Amino acid sequence: MYDVIVVGGGGAGMCAALAAREHGAKVLVLERAPQDKRGGNTAFASGTFRMVHHGANDIRKVVPDLTEQDIANTDFGEYTAEQYFDDLGRITQYQSDPELADVLIHQSADTVDWLHKLGVRFLPNYGRQAFKIDGRFKFFGGSVIYANGGGEGLMEAHFKNAERLGIDVRYGARGVALLRGARGVEGVRAEVNGVPEDIRAKAVVLASGGFEANREWRARYLGPGWDMAKVRGTRFNTGDGIRMALDIGAQPYGQWSGCHSCAWERNAGDFGSVETRHNGFRHSYLYGIVVNADGKRFLDEGADFRNFTYAKYGRVILQQPGGYAWQVFDAQAKPLMRDEYKLRGATKVTADTLEDLATRMQDVDKAQFLKTVAEFNGAITREVPFNPNVKDGLRTVGLEPDKSNWATPIETPPFEAYSVGCGITFTFGGVKIDNTGRVLDIEDAPLPGLYAAGEMVGGIFYFNYPGATGLMSSAVFGRLAGRSAAGHANA
Ligand SMILES: Cc1cc2nc3c(=O)[nH]c(=O)nc-3n(C[C@H](O)[C@H](O)[C@H](O)COP(=O)(O)OP(=O)(O)OC[C@H]3O[C@@H](n4cnc5c(N)ncnc54)[C@H](O)[C@@H]3O)c2cc1C
Repeated sequence: MYDVIVVGGGGAGMCAALAAREHGAKVLVLERAPQDKRGGNTAFASGTFRMVHHGANDIRKVVPDLTEQDIANTDFGEYTAEQYFDDLGRITQYQSDPELADVLIHQSADTVDWLHKLGVRFLPNYGRQAFKIDGRFKFFGGSVIYANGGGEGLMEAHFKNAERLGIDVRYGARGVALLRGARGVEGVRAEVNGVPEDIRAKAVVLASGGFEANREWRARYLGPGWDMAKVRGTRFNTGDGIRMALDIGAQPYGQWSGCHSCAWERNAGDFGSVETRHNGFRHSYLYGIVVNADGKRFLDEGADFRNFTYAKYGRVILQQPGGYAWQVFDAQAKPLMRDEYKLRGATKVTADTLEDLATRMQDVDKAQFLKTVAEFNGAITREVPFNPNVKDGLRTVGLEPDKSNWATPIETPPFEAYSVGCGITFTFGGVKIDNTGRVLDIEDAPLPGLYAAGEMVGGIFYFNYPGATGLMSSAVFGRLAGRSAAGHANA
């Protein structure tokens, strides 16, 4: 018999499995996807982690390849626990559960160190989270490192460690219900390649993601129109673990009507694919303007660093007429635009004049678009110097909405426009856990033997999300849940 069964072999699940094994447990991971589609949303991730650090020395602990020259050429700044709390609080409108936030923040650096010791290679995220200005990189937005090979590289490291440590992983194995006995939760009813099977264990960790890939639940909980969003990542996160826990009395927690969603290639497929996982990203809106079908701007493209706005703008795009928008750039923005804009599959038009561009953006009101650009260009306070490494205050005045930073005029040809829709990343609602990873019932009492981690835990994110916190949160709470489940099994 197994000590611990982990349902879901993504980032949270594999951290739980590895931590439980380290604490002496015999572990089985049930993964719904076939082996060639394993890794969950984690495998789709760019790989950025948001952790507390106090400058180059802390970064060097987890990036030992950092050279003296790198250090001399880089301002890593620092990211204190207080700054992390401030960002998480502000971004979530102060709804984030303080106890869970405390765990996430205070265990972030130690958990990255744990991953590093498990062989995950980290690198500084130059170019994405720091631009070179006057010969020096300066990190902004609170996130410095990413896992080599992105989320896919991270998951490869996890599976390699699982094999080395003797963790069993079964693919095509979908958890459907929790088994209960005198000790509480005592196993999982699974469908293994379609065949029902009861598998016993002393404790269970649920880590099967949110419900972002469940079209029906999206419409039911996120609201009308959400059935039409594109899923940026895995097709397998349909809320199974959440339902399994609710079925035995777990407390629904967090913002069930909220999710992480961003601008995404308008004609992308219904679900992501790991091979082309970057093609749909459209994150350079900070350096242009975004207009809707009426030819009007509708959001502040420069409200804050990308890390603090991108995850709420998918919803805003979905709410526009037709549920789409166009990101418009001129030649000045080109050097700053992320590489994904060059990848295949972009719905893109280019032109040497704004009139021609407007004609090619066939489903946008042309006259209004030209008026919007003229008004935008005329409202810029041009004497402020442009600097993408700081919130530069190069803004418009008198528009509704204004652009608060990085407001360079749209005036230098050639012009480019990219059509975007809403891509959903993960949902915010889930079950309630305590600060040891135990799933709680409606009276905040633990359900014995049941633990949860990752996207399916509610209460951490509301309304918006600070970039690079998903992987951090799945690692911190996965490791915690695995450790606690092993402790329960050994008791
Ligand atoms: C395109 C994209 C880019 C991203 N980039 C970043 C980034 O750079 N930094 C960052 O911090 N976050 C990023 N994220 C978010 C991050 O990937 C997630 O927040 C995090 O990986 C979630 O981990 P998880 O283990 O909870 O879920 P997952 O990794 O999705 O794992 C859940 C697993 O459960 C399995 N499963 C589902 N149902 C069942 C069932 N019934 N039985 C058994 N198994 C089941 C799934 O197949 C899956 O393998 C990104 C996400 C996407 C989609």
